[in-house]
Amino acid sequence: MSFFLKLYALLFLPFYSDRTPLPDDVLNVIDENKWKESPTLGEYLILYPDCKTERGIRCVHCGSGSLRNWGVLSERDERRVFVCNHCGQRLYRSSV
Ligand SMILES: [Zn+2]
Repeated sequence: MSFFLKLYALLFLPFYSDRTPLPDDVLNVIDENKWKESPTLGEYLILYPDCKTERGIRCVHCGSGSLRNWGVLSERDERRVFVCNHCGQRLYRSSV
């Protein structure tokens, strides 16, 4: 992780944690290489076809349909990672 990423994390993650507690796994989202390790939505659905439901995508770990998405480096980053609201696992990413 570069110096600037660490600086970014030090400066801005406290603000995120004020609003929503971040599971440890989500902290890895700011690492761009970790982001690329996540499957895209298409790959996720090939891996876990049962996760596509009438109401949308659900978590393969706990079955929750409540997902949120995070920008990799900032809220406006168009590279998104989708995280389960219930168990905090990273599920898939945007294909940008
Ligand atoms: Zn879950």
